[in-house]
Amino acid sequence: MSNFFSSSETPLNTQYDNLKDNYEKIFVEAAESIRRDLDTFKPQNPCDKCAIKECKIEKKDIFAPYPPGCKYRDWQLQALTYLAGDYRQKLKAVYKSIMDKKSEYSCCQCASCCKLATSPYSYEQLKQKALRGDKFSKDFVSVFVPYKTEEDAKAANPEYFELLNKLVEDEKIYYYYCPKLNGNLCSDYENRPDVCKDFPHNPLKLLPSKCSFNAWKNEVAHDAMLLKAKVDIIDFYGSKLK
Ligand code: SF4
Ligand code: SF4
Ligand code: SF4
Repeated sequence: MSNFFSSSETPLNTQYDNLKDNYEKIFVEAAESIRRDLDTFKPQNPCDKCAIKECKIEKKDIFAPYPPGCKYRDWQLQALTYLAGDYRQKLKAVYKSIMDKKSEYSCCQCASCCKLATSPYSYEQLKQKALRGDKFSKDFVSVFVPYKTEEDAKAANPEYFELLNKLVEDEKIYYYYCPKLNGNLCSDYENRPDVCKDFPHNPLKLLPSKCSFNAWKNEVAHDAMLLKAKVDIIDFYGSKLK
């Protein structure tokens, strides 16, 4: 497995640039892999024996507007069933193995994730989501509180703060911290919610540069990006073929 990051403590800008540079290549890799899979059950030369005389379709790709009764139309329907069924199950198994790999790494207690957490939602919005039953929001507001000012948030982790602002310049970001942090230790460790236990939740999100789970992210980044690309592509196929 190739590694995108070369050091154990990964500068945030490097993480971002590597992910961005690699995603385009990986997207092409994912698209080609899906196309090869679908080509395995593409019908061979059905036009030779076709009785539909007025057909003017030249390029026989998966998205062409094949008429009812066309063998390629059957192929489209078969592809749709395969991608929504067996293929999606395979992707779920890949996701599980990526997340399971995280257990091979452990937290170095840098406390970065307790000192600065971000959300696209305000505290009030998160509380509303929690009231509506959203588990992640419920956990989040049970420990995190908003920073009073952006300057306070920036002081907690200037590098992380600045990069997040650069990346999501058109969207509002809300900054939070946990008052249960005592030094670099959790004062309520036994009762911490899943949002803490499960951090980091996604190997494709930026992590604080001191986070020891960068090593996990490094190991699974290629597979995680390939998985994301495949999910995006099969969603696209689903919308075009239905
Ligand atoms: S309807 Fe389908 S099988 Fe018939 S000629 Fe057109 S593309 Fe070929
Ligand atoms: S509850 Fe503990 S582990 Fe969770 S954010 Fe607060 S200090 Fe960190
Ligand atoms: S940022 Fe990573 S290493 Fe640091 S406390 Fe959080 S999970 Fe542990």
